[in-house]
Amino acid sequence: MSNTFDVIVIGAGAVGSAAAYFAARSGQHVLLLEQFEIDHQNGSSYGASRIIRYAYDHPVYVELAKSTFPLWAALEAESGETLYTQTGGIDFGRVDQPTLRGMIDSLAACNIPHEVLEPDEAHQRFPQFRFDDDMKVLYQGDAGVLRASLCVRTHVRLAQQHGAVVRDQSPVTRIEIKSDSVEIQAGGEIFSAAALIVVPGPWGIFASIGLDLPLTPVKTHEAYFDSQPAERYDTTSFPIFIAHTLENYGFMPYGLPGVDGSGLKVGLHGGPPIADMNAVDRTPSPDVIEKAQTFIKRHIPGGSAPLKYARVCLYTMTPDEHFIIDRHPAHDHVAISASCSGHAFKFSNIIGQILTDLVCNGTTQHDIGLFSLSRFDQLQSV
Ligand SMILES: Cc1cc2nc3c(=O)[nH]c(=O)nc-3n(C[C@H](O)[C@H](O)[C@H](O)COP(=O)(O)OP(=O)(O)OC[C@H]3O[C@@H](n4cnc5c(N)ncnc54)[C@H](O)[C@@H]3O)c2cc1C
Repeated sequence: MSNTFDVIVIGAGAVGSAAAYFAARSGQHVLLLEQFEIDHQNGSSYGASRIIRYAYDHPVYVELAKSTFPLWAALEAESGETLYTQTGGIDFGRVDQPTLRGMIDSLAACNIPHEVLEPDEAHQRFPQFRFDDDMKVLYQGDAGVLRASLCVRTHVRLAQQHGAVVRDQSPVTRIEIKSDSVEIQAGGEIFSAAALIVVPGPWGIFASIGLDLPLTPVKTHEAYFDSQPAERYDTTSFPIFIAHTLENYGFMPYGLPGVDGSGLKVGLHGGPPIADMNAVDRTPSPDVIEKAQTFIKRHIPGGSAPLKYARVCLYTMTPDEHFIIDRHPAHDHVAISASCSGHAFKFSNIIGQILTDLVCNGTTQHDIGLFSLSRFDQLQSV
């Protein structure tokens, strides 16, 4: 096999697997390099479920979501897999909460159907929940659940069907960017390509391509509860939710219905920074589980249940929590993304497509100004 490709993608998380799929589907000869096994548990993309929603407090994300829903549907049609289940979604909090107010305004500005409910009305619609009297409840019907691990595996499988070569257990140890190509060392081999897409999640290999990015890996959790009866808390009757009650728990609580028997999932958006990626403490923190249980007791009282399962998962945060999606400032044939900040899974398909367009066509039809590298003063390139 030749070690020369059109496009090399580094990192087979949600975004890298999507980029490999879109590049291969567009006819490029693609190599996807992953340091661990495909669908490993060490990064950000593994697990039963992720939220997909239009509700965002910035119209740019709402507009992106208009593309991401159809792309997941197209992937389902091509693969025969069920990746998305519609559940509807609620956001609740006091209406003066800027994030909740911003979501209502953005949905209206982008013509996405939604309702703002009073607590009593919302309780009648979603009897599993108890809302405070001074809360408003935003309902958006298209929100739902993506089967996270299955999405990653499906993008990888279809990328291979479109001709991509996938090398797992192949950590990239050297990247050399030349004027019109790249040379990569991984797993003891040298590969070259006309273009490179770098999506390494919390593993900071950006320094090796001359980029000093303000990224902070943080330790967060996925906690699943054995709430009964299961059908009251699964995708048949329970919406995804975000509670705009940051002040009560330190981080914003969110949750998803049980998917394929996973149990009700409740998490807190965020966590403490990780000082050393080579020494991540992957033991779930009892404190976080306790906070999730306190939240459930107050707002989903019938769903209080023993913990079924918890695991540590990583976010890669930017200072403003907006993604990075851009071309390398010194090399047009290199595109990068640090798209996490805890909310990129739903967009991973469109980000993968944008990255492919950036390195293969030099442009994208999507508005990615918000995600540019130039917003960081401390950026240094070589
Ligand atoms: C608990 C949790 C809940 C979340 N909930 C949601 C949600 O509900 N909705 C939503 O939209 N988003 C959510 N997110 C965020 C979303 O999952 C992430 O934004 C997304 O998975 C990031 O994908 P990624 O491909 O950028 O990163 P990663 O998944 O970290 O992938 C990066 C990959 O690069 C590989 N890599 C790194 N360095 C090298 C190297 N040198 N050589 C080879 N390979 C390398 C890594 O091994 C890894 O596989 C959540 C995240 C977590 C952790």
